[in-house]
This record gives sequence, structure tokens and C-alpha cells, in this order.
Amino acid sequence: MKYFGSGHGACPGCGLPIAVKNVLEAIGPCFVANSTGCLEIISSQYGKSAWGVPYIHSLFENAAAVAAGIEAALKALGRTDEGPVVVFAGDGATADIGIGPLSGMFDRGHDVLYICLDNEAYQNTGNQQSGLTPTGSNTTTCPAGKLMPGKPGPKKDMVAIALAHKVPYVATASVAYPKDIRRKAKRAMEFEGPKYIQIHSTCVTGWGIEGKLAIPIARLAVETGLYPLVEYENGKLVRVRKIKKRKPVEEYLKPQKRFRHLFKHPKGHEIIEEIQRIADENAARFGLDVE
Ligand code: SF4
Repeated sequence: MKYFGSGHGACPGCGLPIAVKNVLEAIGPCFVANSTGCLEIISSQYGKSAWGVPYIHSLFENAAAVAAGIEAALKALGRTDEGPVVVFAGDGATADIGIGPLSGMFDRGHDVLYICLDNEAYQNTGNQQSGLTPTGSNTTTCPAGKLMPGKPGPKKDMVAIALAHKVPYVATASVAYPKDIRRKAKRAMEFEGPKYIQIHSTCVTGWGIEGKLAIPIARLAVETGLYPLVEYENGKLVRVRKIKKRKPVEEYLKPQKRFRHLFKHPKGHEIIEEIQRIADENAARFGLDVE
């Protein structure tokens, strides 16, 4: 183990260790603040640690505030040469519970890299809906049944929220593309101030998939246009991962238990059409399709 490695207890096929390892390998020694969530549970159990860098477990809501404090303290102590400050937080901690402190951290311009590990629900406590849960997904708080065909409404657009705060570097990434994660983490460090990267990260239990399918399914999210990989510098869209032949969203939805009901529910067809519309809109908005 160098910065993150053996000793973690993630489910086989979990995307979190892939995301964390690649970010840390790209940026090197750093100070990590990690909100409550799966990553914290699997990596910092009492008496064990998977971290090879200074690490603090914050509360669910305040990882951004803790990181801002660490960054300010390192500045005050003249210790900025010891490494950057990084937050790892789940989608619920980012888009819901911790959005106030995150907004404050962005607003005050702290020199912090904020990584949102987006596995699209509160997976640590058993797949409850978060603001980043996608349309139609079955969760324990929006269960698919007679009345409801899974999560109503779209994912919260955290990229737009970060951009609205004038965050100088904003990107999305996926565990299916580790090289891209490393490049984006490295690039982020070239910007002074807050940086936001949202990494799509598989959850084998919440999504209801086999571990061996985790990476192919993560790749399908990108190849269907449902998880566009984009990069903004100083508010300008500078890079987009193009898609040669965009796949229909059914290919991504079918292998996952969280979407299985859509193929039998009376309203399922309508929801699948809505999900396809989201993918088509992404393709048009970011120019995903190779002409
Ligand atoms: S529950 Fe999901 S996110 Fe948590 S360790 Fe297992 S696969 Fe990873």
C-alpha cells in the first residue's frame, strides 16, 4: 500500500477503491477529509486503516468545512508544501446533507480538491434515495411498486451547481476510465482554489449487479450518454468524451436489479423513454455523438 490500499473492506466490484486509489496515485501525498459513508466504513474501522496519508473522518455534513479548516491551518502554519487537501464524500453527503458547507467552501475559495463519489444513493445504510439517484431507480425510500415506478425526477445537477459558484475546475469521471480519473485529478491540482470532480462509482449491492459486471456497467453509463464525461476550466467546457455509437439506455438498465421493475411495471415503458430522453439531451448539450 502506498496512499490507499490493502486493509479496506469494500464489497468485491465496488468502485470506491478504484476511484480513491487513482486520485491519490495522481496527486501524491495529501490530507484527506472523508465524510461518513461507505468509504469511511470500509477504510477506517477501529484498529485498521487503508490510508497511507493523513486522514480524518468528518461528520456526514461537514467534510467541506473540515477540509477548509485544514487548508486554512496549513496556510497559517506555513506548511502548504506538505501536500494538498482533498475531500472524499458520497453523493448524499455532497448533494444533500453537506451542500451548505460545500457551498461555503466554494464561496470562500478554499484551495481544496473535492471528490464526490457518486454511487447514486446512500449505499452505506442500504440504498436510500439521494439527490443524485437517477430517474426510475428502485431504492428503499422510493420503492418501485403499484403507486411509484422508482425514483421520480432527475439527478441533481451538481456540476451546474459547482459552475454557478465559479469553481475554476469542474469535471465528471467514471471508474470505468481510471486513466481519465488520474489525468483529471492531476489537471485539477494546477488550479488555485476549489476543484470539484464527480466520479461515477459502482455499488454492487445497491445497483444489484455481480462484481464482475461492475466495470462494464459503469462503461455503459458513459456509452449511453447517461453519465457524460466532461471537463470545465474557468467555467468553459474544454473537453468531452465523445461516443462513437451511442447505445440505447436499455442496455445499461437491464442488467441492474434497481431498474428491473421498469421492464414489467405499467409505467415502466414511459420511464425508460424519459431516461432515453435524458441521455439524448446530454448528447445534444455536450456534443457527445461523433458526427
Ligand atoms: S455497499 Fe456498495 S458502495 Fe458500499 S462497499 Fe459495497 S459496493 Fe461499495
